[in-house]
Amino acid sequence: MASFRDAFGRVIRRERTDVAKAIRDHLGRRDESSLEQWLVRFYGEDHRQFFESQTDAIYQATQLLTRSQIFQELGYQLNDDALQRFRNDYRQNVLDEYMGDSLGQIRGIMKKSREDGVDMVDALTQRLEEWVEKRADKLAVAEAHRTVNALTVAAFRESGIVSALRWVTAGDSCPFCQEMNGRIVSVTREFLGAGEELSAGGRQLKTYWNVRHPPLHAGCDCSLAPA
Ligand SMILES: [Zn+2]
Repeated sequence: MASFRDAFGRVIRRERTDVAKAIRDHLGRRDESSLEQWLVRFYGEDHRQFFESQTDAIYQATQLLTRSQIFQELGYQLNDDALQRFRNDYRQNVLDEYMGDSLGQIRGIMKKSREDGVDMVDALTQRLEEWVEKRADKLAVAEAHRTVNALTVAAFRESGIVSALRWVTAGDSCPFCQEMNGRIVSVTREFLGAGEELSAGGRQLKTYWNVRHPPLHAGCDCSLAPA
């Protein structure tokens, strides 16, 4: 079966090749504004479509498997329409986040290079290589986990059988996840609101999104159970 790692690897290698070429072409002419236009089109159209075409099968397979696991657990089968709605929403979110993250990093490096007077092409090329080395693996672990948990929340809510969710840690967990362990919320509520701070082990973690399910942070492998 295809894996998230393979799919994201193809997405990121293609992105590295295309963006590196655009950087050389546009910045070779010292034309930052035409590079910006190219980036907006690339991340808004071309690469968005490529990401979707490369990852759709693995998301679908993972979500179908999750649906059948929930059926075994609850005796409730999420119907095809509800699953389709979930898939569409989830896909839009992933695409928005991924493209926004790439574009934000590139713009940030361009700005900082300008301010610090360092070579913009070198700085951008270095980041693209870092993406190829590390980003696919990180994203694969996070997405495999996130899609399962997000669908679990959706299915529990649709089922009408489950009214509350419990946060459950797995194995060795960081202090933040231990702090979350055992917390219970209604299926219609979030565990932490956007901007809320979680304190644990003398440290603070601020969330920038409504945390309805794990992962809470990179590498978090917590899950959810009916409560
Ligand atoms: Zn966790």
